[in-house]
Amino acid sequence: MHTLTYLTLDKDVRQVRQTDVDAFAARISGGVLSAADGGYEDARKVWNGTVDRHPALIARCLNDGDIQAAVRFAGAHRMLVSVRGGGHHIAGNAVAEGGLMIDLSGMRTVAIDPANRTARVGPGALLADFDRAAQAHGLATPLGINSTTGVAGLTLGGGFGWLTRRYGMTIDNLLAATVVTADGEVRVASAASEPDLFWALRGGGGNFGVVTSFEFRLHPVGPEIYAGLVVYPFAQARQVLRAWRDFTADASDELSVWSVLRKAPPLPFLPASAHGTEVVVLAVAHSGDVAAGQRAAAPVLQFGEPVGSALGPTPYAAFQGAFDPLLAPGGRNYWKSHNFSTLTDSALEVVIEAAGRLPGPECEIFVAQLGAAMARVNPSATAYVGRDARYVMNVHGRWSDPRDDDRVRSWARQVFQNAAPHATGSGYVNFLTEDEAERVAASYGINYPRLQTAKRRFDPQNLFRMNLNIAPAAQAVRRGAVQAER
Ligand SMILES: Cc1cc2nc3c(=O)[nH]c(=O)nc-3n(C[C@H](O)[C@H](O)[C@H](O)COP(=O)(O)OP(=O)(O)OC[C@H]3O[C@@H](n4cnc5c(N)ncnc54)[C@H](O)[C@@H]3O)c2cc1C
Repeated sequence: MHTLTYLTLDKDVRQVRQTDVDAFAARISGGVLSAADGGYEDARKVWNGTVDRHPALIARCLNDGDIQAAVRFAGAHRMLVSVRGGGHHIAGNAVAEGGLMIDLSGMRTVAIDPANRTARVGPGALLADFDRAAQAHGLATPLGINSTTGVAGLTLGGGFGWLTRRYGMTIDNLLAATVVTADGEVRVASAASEPDLFWALRGGGGNFGVVTSFEFRLHPVGPEIYAGLVVYPFAQARQVLRAWRDFTADASDELSVWSVLRKAPPLPFLPASAHGTEVVVLAVAHSGDVAAGQRAAAPVLQFGEPVGSALGPTPYAAFQGAFDPLLAPGGRNYWKSHNFSTLTDSALEVVIEAAGRLPGPECEIFVAQLGAAMARVNPSATAYVGRDARYVMNVHGRWSDPRDDDRVRSWARQVFQNAAPHATGSGYVNFLTEDEAERVAASYGINYPRLQTAKRRFDPQNLFRMNLNIAPAAQAVRRGAVQAER
């Protein structure tokens, strides 16, 4: 009898009859791949090149029924299961080694309702798909800053980008989600239907089921915004970052200025002598009127003596892809991230010191400026709790030679440690690496117990565990009971 070997939820090795696999494959519209099939090698790849896992099966789902069949198959066999949206998460949880990968990358439809200013978005859509479709009507919702990121993972973890200070996080614009829960049932979660599930989905990651479609509120944006980059030499980093920090404290909701410390890429507006040298890049995006944006952003040119700048009216959709060349898929990546409610001079010194010893030309330290509309939402209103994160630092360790793995990772860890005393202690699950499971509870803070309760209700067996995992409340209670018995 032919069988297929797989790993269970508990990582035990088991076999399933090939006839059962064939029957399952016949129910999946896009087919099911195993290691011997053409297309398998490409399908198992994700954005982070350090992720090199081999699922036993990859189910290429194209509709809700496919997803239900995949969830039921995994549940029936207690098969380790993962969910792949855009495949961007740094931790690589989209790929289950030895298990079933539910691949949603074929579900990229975006339908815009311009009259009601809403969008219905498939779970495999990338930010570029969404922005392109919405911008055709002069509309957008807050998303991230790299256009090849998946809408699904970004939304489920929270989501922030250039529009967040004006219109909130991605989750603040989520109106409804259709979800296949661990029991294989389809549920619609919104403020009016399954409100607990809707609350948990807005920041709780992939813990509660497989989202088969998202409905978002849209806002008029662009199509041109005032945006671009101002680049300062590293020698001026202290003066520039302090001026940036003070300026951003009072900025309008329309204006976002993020800082990036890295070695200068060969940007056409920089002199050749600056290429490859350490610089401070200030990335500016003003989502309101272009002339007002020019006035509002003018001080950013006066924090020091820029080595170059490129600021002006820019198509919003193009600016959404401005960082794509630096964040192309396939590179090796290790990130460490902190939230800050304020950026003290000492915190800035940590960043400057670390940027002075970058371990490679692709490594960088990103500090996003948040706050404004994002901070006006009550921390308990959604599962995402870090509303006090006015700045989020992301230490991007990025390299290509595996021999540099340890060197770059230890640099990122060291920066993280040095910055810890200045940070809030909370985190952003969308930026956590696979070795940071212990940061999950702290990242959810006061919302963690409610998330555990929701997890117990919607996924009591923890079928969806390939994520920054929230333990079902029952397990936590059992552990407590054992302690009480002792
Ligand atoms: C280069 C880069 C730039 C980024 N920039 C930003 C940014 O500007 N702002 C920001 O907020 N974040 C940003 N992120 C983080 C990003 O939000 C997360 O990596 C996010 O998880 C990516 O979603 P994905 O669908 O592409 O990833 P995937 O790896 O496919 O999914 C991540 C996890 O989400 C869950 N998941 C995915 N789809 C579904 C679904 N349909 N149903 C249920 N669970 C699902 C799964 O648990 C999966 O493991 C960036 C990441 C990268 C790599």
